[in-house]
Amino acid sequence: MIELNLPSLLYTSATINVVMIGVLLHTRVYRRTYPGFTAWTLAVVTNIIGQLGLIAYESNTQSIATNIFATFVIGMPILGWYGLRQFLDLKPNIFWLVAVFAASFTIIVLVSLQSETPYPRRAIISVLTLGFCLAGLMDIRRHMSKFVQGGTELIQLGLILSSALLTARLVSIWPLLFDAGLPLENAPQNAYVILVLISVRLLWVLAFIMLTQQRLELELVQSQAKTQSLANKLEELNAELFNDSRSDALTGLANRRHFDEELVFEWERHYQYKATLSVIVLDVDHFKLYNDTYGHSAGDFCLTKIGETLSDIATHYRGLAARYGGEEFTLLLPSTDGRRARAIAKDILRRVEDLRCPFPASPTTGSRLSVSIGVHAIIPAHPSVSNAFIQDADKALYAAKRLGRNQVQVYGQD
Ligand code: GH3
Ligand code: MG
Ligand code: MG
Repeated sequence: MIELNLPSLLYTSATINVVMIGVLLHTRVYRRTYPGFTAWTLAVVTNIIGQLGLIAYESNTQSIATNIFATFVIGMPILGWYGLRQFLDLKPNIFWLVAVFAASFTIIVLVSLQSETPYPRRAIISVLTLGFCLAGLMDIRRHMSKFVQGGTELIQLGLILSSALLTARLVSIWPLLFDAGLPLENAPQNAYVILVLISVRLLWVLAFIMLTQQRLELELVQSQAKTQSLANKLEELNAELFNDSRSDALTGLANRRHFDEELVFEWERHYQYKATLSVIVLDVDHFKLYNDTYGHSAGDFCLTKIGETLSDIATHYRGLAARYGGEEFTLLLPSTDGRRARAIAKDILRRVEDLRCPFPASPTTGSRLSVSIGVHAIIPAHPSVSNAFIQDADKALYAAKRLGRNQVQVYGQD
């Protein structure tokens, strides 16, 4: 039968502390930890040294060794609090730590010298521990939400329990301070206090590990969110880049590359369905002269206006308008025969004339900027796009130029 007395309880407590040190070291080695974890591990180490020392020396109450070990016992709350402040990024000072230890030691020695019994010292240890617990509790309440989103209840509970317990212990020791003669070494309240202190310590260690785990999880969530937002941004940039690589900067129309891709696709589709695909090739008349006369930016303005017109028409007829190069544009018209394509081309001609691009100096086309248009319509006979398609539309365009500009010519018809 194990006797439930003070030394046996202290041994039990020390053994449990050793196990806790093992758990903390395991966590330290195999998991990611945060500042403060080393201090927490040292907290348990100093506690165990203090307890073992007290078991050996407590009979000699006023010896210096007893007081040193007593100071080691409160190393747990001191280092626990110090670690907590490190964990909370409050950057506690090492000199502060040394000073707190030195002050605690001095107070313990001074109190111990007052009496032959261990009770005043136990009382002051309780008071100091209570102070450190409450200070830690305040720090947690004030700063913890930055580091963990919730779940600090456990460590708060540990600290509150410790505080309550220490107060209870103080109350129980209080009469002994004035009546040293009572044989209370095995008093039930002593056993009770130590048993609960063991539980509280277990709670603390669990809380240290949980805090570390929770902070890790929060960090993970935050870094995931960051990665996600970076991925989104990258996707947006990619989409932007993709659009940029397929569109013309001045007019916003598709560029030649985009047009060529679309042509391959539509060509194959029209080959499959035996449908007529039309293309309109458009070139601004005497544009060099226009630029030379009114300036390059006036020329750009007209190109933009022509681009808008073509974009409108493309939307209306579900085609694709592109700036093929310089002052040359194309319009791909799916499921559109030559007759209809010619009508659309004539519409373009008229609408370009309506643009506000006066050109009195034009040698051949009246007083306004005009365009010449070549049209070609085909039912593809082969699945792969033929170069001749655009070339033949170009031929029609040159015919339009040759015949006086500002007009539409359809390949093979005019
Ligand atoms: P034509 O009626 O035979 O087509 O005569 P043109 O003067 O239009 O033909 P040419 O090929 O001699 O000149 C094309 C002009 O288009 C020359 C160039 O300065 C102008 N040009 C090409 N790209 C741009 C551009 O982005 N902005 C401006 N403002 N001008 C451009
Ligand atoms: Mg040209
Ligand atoms: Mg031209």
